[in-house]
Amino acid sequence: MSSQHRSYTTTDSMLRHHATRDEHVLKGIPASHGIAIGRAFVLSVESPSVQSEKISGERITEEVARFRSAVELAAAELISAIELAREETENVSTIIESYLMIVGDPILSHTVISKIEQGDTAEWALIEEFDAKRQMLFQARDPILRERAQDLDHVKERLLSHLRNKTLSHAAARDAIVVAGSMTPQDILFFKKTNTRAFITEIGGINSHSSILARDVGIPAVIGLRNATTDIPNDTTIIVDGYAGVVIVHPSEETLELYREKQGRAEEYRARLGTLINEPTITQDGLSVRLLANIDSPDQVDGAVMAGCEGIGLVRTEFLLMQHGGYPSIEEQTEWYSDIAERAYPRPVTFRAFDVGSDKFREGIPHHEDNPALGLRGIRFLLYRPDLFEDQIYAVLRASRHRNVRFMLPMVTVLEELHQAKVMIETCKHRLAMEEVDFDPHIQIGVMVETPAAALMAETFAQAADFLSIGTNDLAQYALATDRTNEMVADIFDALHPAVIRMIKMVVDAGRLHSTPVSVCGELAGHAAATEMLIGLGISELSVSPTLCLELKDRIRSMQYFECLELTHRLMMCTTTQQVYSLLSGGR
Ligand code: PEP
Ligand code: MG
Repeated sequence: MSSQHRSYTTTDSMLRHHATRDEHVLKGIPASHGIAIGRAFVLSVESPSVQSEKISGERITEEVARFRSAVELAAAELISAIELAREETENVSTIIESYLMIVGDPILSHTVISKIEQGDTAEWALIEEFDAKRQMLFQARDPILRERAQDLDHVKERLLSHLRNKTLSHAAARDAIVVAGSMTPQDILFFKKTNTRAFITEIGGINSHSSILARDVGIPAVIGLRNATTDIPNDTTIIVDGYAGVVIVHPSEETLELYREKQGRAEEYRARLGTLINEPTITQDGLSVRLLANIDSPDQVDGAVMAGCEGIGLVRTEFLLMQHGGYPSIEEQTEWYSDIAERAYPRPVTFRAFDVGSDKFREGIPHHEDNPALGLRGIRFLLYRPDLFEDQIYAVLRASRHRNVRFMLPMVTVLEELHQAKVMIETCKHRLAMEEVDFDPHIQIGVMVETPAAALMAETFAQAADFLSIGTNDLAQYALATDRTNEMVADIFDALHPAVIRMIKMVVDAGRLHSTPVSVCGELAGHAAATEMLIGLGISELSVSPTLCLELKDRIRSMQYFECLELTHRLMMCTTTQQVYSLLSGGR
């Protein structure tokens, strides 16, 4: 049983008194805190049927109609996306316009329809045609044509998702609570603009990038709620309790009142936390801890600073790719990174190189991968596409001109990756120096410790890097061989497993030995039950979602360092996750 199921009992007993005949309570996993009351906007999802099944007769007519309707829906979606994107930047709308051209390409549609008429299902015909075109473009020498191959991938995904009836109509979700089968980080970025009050999904893990993003943008979310799209009627009033992972359908007046009170209490708590903004993050017995923020876009910097964060410990730069819909030019990237560095100045900012792959942005990955989390991801992808990596290095270096920028590498498993990246960084520095561009020649280069290999080799990395940052989400995923996005194994995925704790200790010890700073930027850094342990282990820098910063400060200010040390000593003897939880103050 994972920690996220802890608070059900109270809520259950609270609700039993108030349940009416119509009202019913659905239980999922709390992925982002907060309470929302509103209308459900349900996106129905049918399971994908991509098989090379042969069809005939009426099925052909149906499949052609399904394909045409997917094209129309995708075109309509792109047109409204262009309008939304124009409010952002012209570049984003230009990219989406190029998607629209592909969707509207009569030759492409004609070929797909011919394949359906010859007996393929719509999905199969679409995949075959798009993949064949993509293969041709990908082999082209011209980089512009190669980029078109990525556009094709994006359009293919959108068309497939419409064929599967997963029509994420962002505009129609305005002010509603979105209920969907699953949600990508891109969907969340769009829904954020439509003032979505909460998210409910049928699948997903609490440490998937969609859940992290929901927390970062402060939107309550409940995930892993099986059959949510069928059990929650569209347009009905529902309550989402993102603390308990509970959704209440058709709430009675009494329940609504109960939750409005709960909302009020949560606001009071936030107001109380507000008084801590300018207070130091220090334990009762005087140990100072540095609190930094994890962010995904420049507009989160001000919030992080206002919440009292002392800097930015992790910028997930791949979110720029999601917002942009592709790889922006050096100039565009420089502008985005400089915006963050300048808003945060004089506080430090740590840009993480694009962590492309796995459950994030996948454009540029040449083939389908059966195990994307174990595939071309992070630094592996960047070294495979040095052209894209180089552009990012240039842009980060340019943004370092105020001397408050650090750069770190994701998914490192072997030392050579760090060496190769450093050689590329040095080459870029050299060229910029020749061009007389101002940048920080001493920019610090860090390694994310998020694979067991990096943790076990922490001493080596501590000597070779300027700083280490522990990504506990992936460290747990890889150490426990548990897909962080799969709710079926959510009970096994736990960064408080003794194996992960031991790895964290190894990294801290290695950092100490070589005087290399070590921070934690995975979700464990903001986990209520883990703070004492991390401090006791010797972590003095925690990077968390800005929405958690003050809560964390509040916790640290009430702790005694000597107690953290004692606790950690006992924790190191635990052999099961259960034992760890029973020792930690949060219980389990
Ligand atoms: C991590 O893996 O802990 C991390 C911070 O990186 P991400 O969640 O972006 O994979
Ligand atoms: Mg990671």
